[in-house]
Amino acid sequence: MAGKSTKGICYFCGKSITKAGAKKHLMTHECTVGDKQACMLVKVESPYLKEYWLYADIPLTSTLKSLDTFLRDIWLECCGHLSAFYWGRYDKIAFSSKISSFSEGDTLSYEYDFGSTTDLKITFMGTYFRKKQRAHANLLARNDAPEYKCALCGKLAQIVCVDCMYEDDNCFYCEECIEKHMDESDHEFTLPVVNSPRMGVCGYEGDGGKYDFKKILY
Ligand SMILES: [Zn+2]
Ligand SMILES: [Zn+2]
Ligand SMILES: [Zn+2]
Ligand SMILES: [Zn+2]
Repeated sequence: MAGKSTKGICYFCGKSITKAGAKKHLMTHECTVGDKQACMLVKVESPYLKEYWLYADIPLTSTLKSLDTFLRDIWLECCGHLSAFYWGRYDKIAFSSKISSFSEGDTLSYEYDFGSTTDLKITFMGTYFRKKQRAHANLLARNDAPEYKCALCGKLAQIVCVDCMYEDDNCFYCEECIEKHMDESDHEFTLPVVNSPRMGVCGYEGDGGKYDFKKILY
């Protein structure tokens, strides 16, 4: 697949940042005065698809359930599958676990959907103060949407042919060429290109644009 860049955008200031430099950059936006709230800075990434990553904050008084809700909302939810957090690979952690019970440097594994599973790696990056608010989790930064080229014409692709995806890498098509491709092959199952490690899996169609940079202002 194309687009292995780890570049992304800061949701406070719109600057282009890298996954590795994100923490340092985000700390410059920390709330230092007034009514502030202690949070955990959380890095979430796909262990296999390195181009997908995000940073969020979540209050120390919240639980893993809030993190699960946020991850479903931005990256995962297709049809209400089960999910779980683990220490290592198999040691399940209760959804009721408080964020305050974790320490900087702790890493968890996460699975959404035990059939067509999307695996995520979660790293707790340390305490982070934000302006007091009701939200359980804020998106602070995320990877730029990877761009894929149409297998037939080379233009920017909007559609994933799921049948092709299971056969080879050339599964991306533009809106004009997908019709042709489906006529010429016996392929029939398509999904939209979306900025998520669950792209092309089960019935996942994206977050509906809810987390577009233009829609979120801090
Ligand atoms: Zn920034
Ligand atoms: Zn599903
Ligand atoms: Zn095309
Ligand atoms: Zn196909």
